Amino acid sequence: MSLDDPSFVADIAVVGAGAAGLATAIFVARRCPNRTILALDGANKLGAKILVSGGGRCNVTNVAVTPSDYCGGSPHVIRRVLAAFTAEQTVIFFRELGVEMHVEEYGKLFPNTNRARTVLDALLGEAERLGVRILPGHRVMQIERRDDCFEIGAEVAGVRIIRARRVVLATGGLSLPKTGSDGGGYRLAQHLGHSITPTTPALVPLILDGDFHTGLSGIAHEVTLTVLVEGCKPVRVRGPLLWTHFGVSGPAVLDVSRYWHHARLEQRGVTVSVSFLPDDDFISLEEKLLGIVSSQPKTFLRNALATFLPARLADEILKNLGIDGGVAMAQVTRDARRALVRALLEWPMAVRDSRGYGYAEVTAGGVPLSEIDPGGMASRKCPGLYLVGEILDVDGRIGGFNFQWAWSSGWVAATGIGRELNA
Ligand SMILES: Cc1cc2nc3c(=O)[nH]c(=O)nc-3n(C[C@H](O)[C@H](O)[C@H](O)COP(=O)(O)OP(=O)(O)OC[C@H]3O[C@@H](n4cnc5c(N)ncnc54)[C@H](O)[C@@H]3O)c2cc1C
Repeated sequence: MSLDDPSFVADIAVVGAGAAGLATAIFVARRCPNRTILALDGANKLGAKILVSGGGRCNVTNVAVTPSDYCGGSPHVIRRVLAAFTAEQTVIFFRELGVEMHVEEYGKLFPNTNRARTVLDALLGEAERLGVRILPGHRVMQIERRDDCFEIGAEVAGVRIIRARRVVLATGGLSLPKTGSDGGGYRLAQHLGHSITPTTPALVPLILDGDFHTGLSGIAHEVTLTVLVEGCKPVRVRGPLLWTHFGVSGPAVLDVSRYWHHARLEQRGVTVSVSFLPDDDFISLEEKLLGIVSSQPKTFLRNALATFLPARLADEILKNLGIDGGVAMAQVTRDARRALVRALLEWPMAVRDSRGYGYAEVTAGGVPLSEIDPGGMASRKCPGLYLVGEILDVDGRIGGFNFQWAWSSGWVAATGIGRELNA
């Protein structure tokens, strides 16, 4: 029957065919064969975000996934959803689809092909095999709850009204809006009775004031970043930092960005500092420098520092502190040495802003988890509605955790829908 036939009513319409939407459609189709499942997406070409993920390689999940890898709503709810479909199950699921994975640094899992396309094709192929009707180029503008079904208004060279008994909102957040997730899903959720926890970009590079960073562009090294938010416990993240022409990027920076943004959102004072030598404290670092004074007293300070740090960074730090790098180690005064040690361990980062949603990997905030039944991702506000993926108030750190949330929440929604349909 044609979708436009006034008597056509789909069993399920998934709005948004990204990671969470495709996973939900597949899991529902497996549980409830012979049901009509539609997956509508505003984009003409599906899966743009999957294709750019993980540097084009798609970091599908992580060997160790726990609620502490996420921020946002209740950790209890996050734990429950993740436990229902674990990282191990994700690996098995993708293996069934012909996607074998391998583990890399920090427990990240990637497809053996090292191509995100493999992941996207596997999902699209499975959805098609199971009879899911995928409708690209269907941007949903409106969803109305009627007595016995939803009326979904999609823009397709005009307006197309599609009816469905159940709707899954999988429209993502605001990150990388050019891929199709431009926040329109929040308005659909609000119209159906939900509230939205204020959003900010997360996993996003930071813009710095001043010109300290400009000469360092391209240098990457291990650091510990500390974010101090007024009235909160310090947040410390260790990992690689990349200097860029605008400021800083790299995994450690992306991970702390949500805390900086959240503090700004709440109008709290916030500072970010960096330890260039994360294995050291004041005493151990001063001892190291004194050791060089004893063993190589004639070595220039600049060269001594360059044994711990990239040489260009060492020069920039010395210049900034007004310390002459051309002085021999034996001539460095106690005050200069101590000022240098303090600076190396607690360098203030003059964060002006982030690069915004256009460069963010994920969105913090969204539909509160308190408005969802975690046993089936069903809306507590609108019967027949389900929500999955990034539209919810959950954001993971870097390492495959955001996709795991998409797979897990998709699985739980399918369980909830299956329970109702098969009752
Ligand atoms: C550059 C980048 C790299 C990333 N790398 C990784 C990684 O390696 N590992 C990881 O775990 N996470 C990664 N992420 C995060 C991850 O991609 C997201 O968390 C995940 O894709 C969210 O899935 P989703 O299905 O909820 O939303 P999305 O993937 O955003 O999908 C939402 C879909 O809904 C559609 N849509 C939106 N509004 C409408 C509407 N009104 N009507 C119809 N369709 C609509 C969009 O077109 C889109 O296809 C990365 C993100 C970015 C931006």
